Amino acid sequence: MSKKVKDFGIEKTLKNLGIKDENKGTSTGGKYFASGTTIESYSPVDGNLIAKVKTSGASDYDKVLEAAQNAFKEFRLIPAPKRGEIVRQLGQKLRQYKNDLGKLVSYEMGKSLQEGLGEVQEMIDICDFAVGVSRQLHGYTMHSERPGHRMYEQYHPLGVVGIITAFNFPVAVWSWNTALAWICGNVTIWKPSEKTPLCAIACQNIMNEVLKENNLPEGISSVLVADHEIGQKLVDDKRVALISFTGSTRVGRMVSANVAQRFGKSILELGGNNAIIITQDADINMSIIGAVFGAVGTAGQRCTSTRRLIIHESVYDEVKNRLVKAYGQLKIGNPLDESNHVGPLIDTDAVNMYQEAIKKGKKEGAKFIVEGEVLKGKGYESGCYVKPCIAEVKNSYEIVQHETFAPILYLIKYKTLEEAIAIQNDVPQGLSSAIMTQNLREAELFLSHAGSDCGIANVNIGTSGAEIGGAFGGEKETGGGRESGSDVWKYYMRRQTNTINYTTNLPLAQGIKFDL
Ligand code: NAD
Repeated sequence: MSKKVKDFGIEKTLKNLGIKDENKGTSTGGKYFASGTTIESYSPVDGNLIAKVKTSGASDYDKVLEAAQNAFKEFRLIPAPKRGEIVRQLGQKLRQYKNDLGKLVSYEMGKSLQEGLGEVQEMIDICDFAVGVSRQLHGYTMHSERPGHRMYEQYHPLGVVGIITAFNFPVAVWSWNTALAWICGNVTIWKPSEKTPLCAIACQNIMNEVLKENNLPEGISSVLVADHEIGQKLVDDKRVALISFTGSTRVGRMVSANVAQRFGKSILELGGNNAIIITQDADINMSIIGAVFGAVGTAGQRCTSTRRLIIHESVYDEVKNRLVKAYGQLKIGNPLDESNHVGPLIDTDAVNMYQEAIKKGKKEGAKFIVEGEVLKGKGYESGCYVKPCIAEVKNSYEIVQHETFAPILYLIKYKTLEEAIAIQNDVPQGLSSAIMTQNLREAELFLSHAGSDCGIANVNIGTSGAEIGGAFGGEKETGGGRESGSDVWKYYMRRQTNTINYTTNLPLAQGIKFDL
């Protein structure tokens, strides 16, 4: 470990979370093993090597699948509220490890410390939520059309749930899925992003403590730190009942087709291209805060990041000038330093994509009113820090139709709200959307059938940041999946309709007679 890593107090954090200089990336519970190649996790904060991880090989994969299948036979028999108790204990552990885990998220992924801690808080919240749901996995009871019959629906666990996650929420997405999957009686196998392997090992270590303290079998919670090839194996594996995939639309399209091909179930949480409509009746102060946080928070690397502002012509110049001023005040630097607003992108590949997008935008006619730039010099040695930028564009530009995972904000002018809603919906993705207005008519139209086509539609709140209590996800190329709150637990179970005849006759449904 380099000296610089020690300077941020990261060494202690890693130790507390059980991360060593060299780690094994496969675990089914108590112990770790791995037979694959080694990956190195570098921090985008300072470019230093944090630790190495030996990835999961093909033979590890089979061991994990076998352990999961065996564990399922046992775990499904534990009553749901008792499974909820396991999740409650995970929530308690996460409270204990919140500072360390939040700091690791910030250091390995690059989001601000506050956002890292916020992500762990979401994990705690979903655990609390899931504990309650573990006592409410209820189905309908309906009246049978036949006398002396009872009819009802019940939900059963699915089996092995595969969770494939993106780098930008390296811990929370795991917990959104696992907390619900477990209370429903499933066992889980996690294939985290290879860009944030240490966050995954830390989570598994925390869960391993819970499993050990409760004397539970290996295989209830497993992790496979590996590249896309192991991810692909999971996707294609008939033994995996549900694939919950969070990542790009490009990969999600393939995942969706392959899982459907084998009649598996999938939850798809893919890319967004989120817009805020700022109307002539908007509170401009609130709009500026919402827009700037949405566009530059997590350096524009949230699936819900604000990418487009659709602004009424009467307030366009005011919003534009105030945005330029606000961007001039942004502090870009080490995300562990709370005085900074913007941290680094995940890696230099992401920096290249940011530069490419700017180039492409300019070629199509985008007029940059705040120029982008890759930052160099002291504090920016990792090469991952970029300047958030703003461009005036047409919604039809190819680059505007595309999700660039970087802090590039596009401004578009409109005349009527109907036109603004049409612009907002005229992209392939459908994740998050917002309107800033104090006018009830505008707000209600935006939320109506003729309004936003997204999975999330907000009024006087930006596009980014969702509470775990609601179902989270989006439409169109965002994949149609839902995660976390509301009745999302149903995605992790199979529904069964039961009819019981307590008479001495066998009447057939639909009045059919079949006399022998
Ligand atoms: P990515 O698609 O590159 O990778 C996501 C995961 O898929 C990684 O674990 C990766 O190893 C795995 N993977 C890659 N190829 C695979 C294959 N052939 N088979 C199986 N797994 C494979 O995405 P990323 O760059 O890590 O994350 C950014 C993207 O994720 C953005 O598009 C963002 O919008 C999206 N995202 C969406 C949500 C949501 O809830 N809608 C949340 C977070 C991120």
